[in-house]
Amino acid sequence: MLDNLAQALSAHFWALMALAAMAFAAIDLVNRGATPATTLARQWLLHGALYGLGLVLVLNLPISMLAGAAASFRLGIGLRAWADFGFAGDFALWVFFYTLTQYLFHLSLHRVRFLWSLHRVHHLDEIVDSSTTLRHHPGESLVALLVFSTLAFILAPPMAAIVLWSCLEFLTDFWTHGRTPLPDGLARKVEAVLFTPRLHRVHHSAFEPQTNSNYGNVFTAWDRLFGTFRRELPERLGLDDAEASGDASRDFDKLLLDPVMYLRRRRENKA
Ligand SMILES: [Zn+2]
Repeated sequence: MLDNLAQALSAHFWALMALAAMAFAAIDLVNRGATPATTLARQWLLHGALYGLGLVLVLNLPISMLAGAAASFRLGIGLRAWADFGFAGDFALWVFFYTLTQYLFHLSLHRVRFLWSLHRVHHLDEIVDSSTTLRHHPGESLVALLVFSTLAFILAPPMAAIVLWSCLEFLTDFWTHGRTPLPDGLARKVEAVLFTPRLHRVHHSAFEPQTNSNYGNVFTAWDRLFGTFRRELPERLGLDDAEASGDASRDFDKLLLDPVMYLRRRRENKA
């Protein structure tokens, strides 16, 4: 059954994700509070353009993972060529290693200076709504593509497992960046296992110890295990040094150049 669902999802992947984006944009609009609707519309234009450029420049992540898995399966060297776990087993294995890799990759994006110069583009957003899901520098998308297609090459999961998990991850990312309200009592229960919009806002805090926490994007387990889980609410979103980046949080060209400017500033400050 999971297999059939995944087949259907894979045939309409981008159409479904576009529909989900529209649904989450509408929820954000309803819950925008003091944020003007025009600001939200600009967010979607800017972040959509950035994501679109990433897709054009570096193909895209689900396709590169599928290619990695297909290549190693054909060569008979991926994990699945050695053992048969059935679809549910293959799917569980993929989710386990994918989420662990995602945690370690996200941690590296914050700890390694060059990677942080790319990833801070995502964190420069001071508004944070579901469109922020798409706000990634094409350079970061390229590194992610290398990391996750290598993982797919090693594990050689079935195509359906990759597509099914990519859909669930995309939807969770839209949800945790957005403004979908969740009653407190229910949130507490959900947060025992999953990240919620409230918990992910902690990661988008301008206060550095909070920025460097909650690296997982679906399950809270890896952060709890490695001691990076935090739940106190942030006072301000964005980054403390956002001012040094000028309009970088809002202009397309400045966002693209921001990694170079950031690394240059760091070098000058050191000299
Ligand atoms: Zn981050």
